[in-house]
Amino acid sequence: MSVLIVGTTALDSIKTPKAENPRLLGGSASHAAVAASFFSPVKLVGGVGEDFPRKYLDLYRRHKIDLTGLQILPGKTFHWSGEYELNMNNRRTLATELGVIETFSPTLPESHRKSQFVLLANIAPSLQHHVLDQMQRPKFVVADTMDLWLNIALPDLLKLLPRIDCFVLNDSEADQLTKEDNVFAALKKIHKLGPKYVIIKKGSHGSILSAPQGFFICPAYPLHTLCDPTGAGDSFVGGMMGYLATARGSIDSNIRRAMIYGSVTASFCCEGFGLNRTTKIKRADIEKRVKELEKLTKF
Ligand code: AMP
Repeated sequence: MSVLIVGTTALDSIKTPKAENPRLLGGSASHAAVAASFFSPVKLVGGVGEDFPRKYLDLYRRHKIDLTGLQILPGKTFHWSGEYELNMNNRRTLATELGVIETFSPTLPESHRKSQFVLLANIAPSLQHHVLDQMQRPKFVVADTMDLWLNIALPDLLKLLPRIDCFVLNDSEADQLTKEDNVFAALKKIHKLGPKYVIIKKGSHGSILSAPQGFFICPAYPLHTLCDPTGAGDSFVGGMMGYLATARGSIDSNIRRAMIYGSVTASFCCEGFGLNRTTKIKRADIEKRVKELEKLTKF
């Protein structure tokens, strides 16, 4: 089964303590779509401006990502720039220029509306609603978000939560949303807002799932050197959704393993700037790290 992914398709300018790279291919949907493409077919929904480089469209195509839902609009592509501290778990957004997505309101092609697995990757909650409104009874809907939307679009986000199956956010966003700095207290509060599954990401410390059958502590793959963690969260959720879409059995029986696959896919993302490393790996590279992670966590 395929995964429908809506989110930002962006140009990212990224500064780390070691290097600076302007206008790389980025965006929540780009990272998630490439990650999911290792496991299942992907339908991308997004909007880019006329300045979007053709080589980035070719990159999506090399990953066999269906671009029927990607519109090229008059104006500029979403541009995000961020700077990392020496401890790369800490990042500062320098600029967010919405460009064409400020007024983007896609009408989904008929073929997209029947997708069973829907990832509402990080983008304005009003757009996440708009896409969900057009879907015909999806089996599993996951949404991600970011501090910007908690700051400027909280009412829309709160209305979205009862409509989705799984909400994914990072620990500082969970803290901001619930005013709880204890992750388990935050998970409990977020369930009360609607979603049956909640995943809190903790950067290089992995993630925690809270589901009807209990908690799952998902490790991050241990990396000795980090190049650029931008998009790791999107790669995690994209890999997880791609795996779920093709796995046999129920969501409950597959979601833990799916998180491990997401976690490993995200580890490759951190080893290169933007999508540079993720676009060079094969499914076999992912399988190798999954086996290593399995050994590391057995006790
Ligand atoms: P992550 O490192 O997983 O938080 O994702 C970073 C990616 O999200 C970058 O590629 C950005 O282009 C994209 N991004 C940054 N800010 C936003 C935002 N407010 N909404 C949607 N996507 C964003």
